[in-house]
Amino acid sequence: MSHHLTQQLQAQGHRITPQRAAILRVIEQSDKHLTPVEVYQLTKKSLPEITEPTVYRTLTFFASQGLVMVAHMGNGQLVYEAAGHEHHHLVCRECNYSLEIDHSILEPLYQQLKESTGYEVDSIHVTFFGLCPHCRENQEEVES
Ligand SMILES: [Zn+2]
Ligand SMILES: [Zn+2]
Repeated sequence: MSHHLTQQLQAQGHRITPQRAAILRVIEQSDKHLTPVEVYQLTKKSLPEITEPTVYRTLTFFASQGLVMVAHMGNGQLVYEAAGHEHHHLVCRECNYSLEIDHSILEPLYQQLKESTGYEVDSIHVTFFGLCPHCRENQEEVES
């Protein structure tokens, strides 16, 4: 696994503290979204003295620097992952099943928004809530 996020942070003129390096390593090595608590627990393995507020502050900082993406997954839960591939999420509000969708599906919408409002929408990480096919089927059975 490369340390390209660390390099990016340095290239943007920021200091690489042991805390920042350890948190970035955790995020880079994960292949899924991590909640702040998960990031804290994983970081603690290599940096036992790190505190939870430090992890939360650092994650917010990384997000503001475009190094990590943050998404709302419902129930007020925030999740983080390394920035890089542009995607969005579909989450089932019944069973919590989540699906990743490619940004290319939404790109025409972003383009339309820009043309009709003049806004350049920059949230390339949006969560849509709904009912998955499985739960829809169950609901139809109940209703009929
Ligand atoms: Zn995501
Ligand atoms: Zn479902």
